[in-house]
Amino acid sequence: MRRFLFAAAIFSLALPCFAGDFQTAAALCDRALGDPTAWHLLESLTAGIGPRPVGTPAAAHARDWAVARLKALGFANVRVEPFAKPSWHRGAESAELVKPYPLRLAVIGLGNSVPTPPQGIEAPVVVLRSYAELLAARPGAFKGKIVVVNQPMTRTEDGSGYGAAVVTRNGDGEAAKRGAVAYLIRSVSTGNGRAPHTGAIWGHTPVIPTAALGVPDADLLQYLAARGPVRLSLKLANWVDAKSQAWNVSGDIRGSERPDEIVVIGGHLDSWDPGTGAIDDAAGVTITVAAANLIGKLPRHPRRTIRVVLFGSEESGGSSDAYLAVHKQELGKIVLAGESDLGSDRAYAVHLPEGAVAAPALAMLPAVLAPLRVLVSDQPAQHAGSDVSGLEKAGVPVLAVDQDASRYFDYHHSADDTLAVVDRAQLNQNVATWAGLLYLVADSKLDFRAKPVKH
Ligand code: ZN
Ligand code: ZN
Repeated sequence: MRRFLFAAAIFSLALPCFAGDFQTAAALCDRALGDPTAWHLLESLTAGIGPRPVGTPAAAHARDWAVARLKALGFANVRVEPFAKPSWHRGAESAELVKPYPLRLAVIGLGNSVPTPPQGIEAPVVVLRSYAELLAARPGAFKGKIVVVNQPMTRTEDGSGYGAAVVTRNGDGEAAKRGAVAYLIRSVSTGNGRAPHTGAIWGHTPVIPTAALGVPDADLLQYLAARGPVRLSLKLANWVDAKSQAWNVSGDIRGSERPDEIVVIGGHLDSWDPGTGAIDDAAGVTITVAAANLIGKLPRHPRRTIRVVLFGSEESGGSSDAYLAVHKQELGKIVLAGESDLGSDRAYAVHLPEGAVAAPALAMLPAVLAPLRVLVSDQPAQHAGSDVSGLEKAGVPVLAVDQDASRYFDYHHSADDTLAVVDRAQLNQNVATWAGLLYLVADSKLDFRAKPVKH
């Protein structure tokens, strides 16, 4: 269990020294709760531009949108940093139950999957209840079959059920070793709707056609397979553009005293294609832009620069390495990094680098965040987001905001990831959390690399 600081006790000691900062930070949070910026940005990025996979015209629209919006909001040093990124493109897809009766199933190809032959694959089905069952099978056990892994995902507030379930997405090679001609998984989802959830196969060259079924469809196949022979016809069309590009777009709120010291935050502009990418990750883009924007409107900017980076290729990877490659020479100047990429539901805890929560300069942070029902954890931040993982591995300290992920994986990477599932009040509570947190860390002189932190 995580332990949390007792905000009031610490705050009461610190108040006399930091009353001005406290009032600024608290007023910033209040303003954020009523600020329409995040919602307006979210509407225009998702409803206005639509799905934004890498290598599509919409990805270029999102880049231009980001540049225009950051400039219009008054961000300084607005930059576009292009990088090469091969892109995978979806064509027509279908899965039909052939035996014991005809039924069209809900299916979506996984990113980077190979296609089926144009006429499709028709084969008998074997259903496994878990990924471990696949790994335990002997080589050749599923020769000529379509393997279905029907492993459910556990719903948790912190989203940790995802890690245990998402391993199924990468099983095409293991299924192929056992003779499978195609590989299907139960959608990595906590929901029970039929909309299937996509996501990328990563870390290896895909071997056989691979797709996700809607949750009820995977359960149906399991029911039928326990009672007799099941046959399925699968068609997946897709292709790769080896020459496409992606971009990281950034803008700064320039620091008032130490502008060359930079706090890097952001979200990712790219999204999967079945929905409009509202919770993944237009939410993170708009939360961080809106929070930095409010700080930029203060009469005095914090001491350090806040840089919002809108990463251009998270879903199939690339942005993190690209950002690190361009900024390798100035890593020492990046004092902190973080990313918002877990949807738009309420924040409930923040994490800082080891030792930072005990520093007097941040003593008022628990009291600033308490009215938002956000706790300051004494557990150090780690794994602060895939787009800042390169910076983190290179030694840049990170911060993290925990959000309620209870319903995030009901919609994530599916046709249901649209504005309709965003709760505006919770979106703004995230903006307020990031605004209060960012203001205090950027205005501090803390060396977050030092352990314990020096100030
Ligand atoms: Zn994401
Ligand atoms: Zn995603």
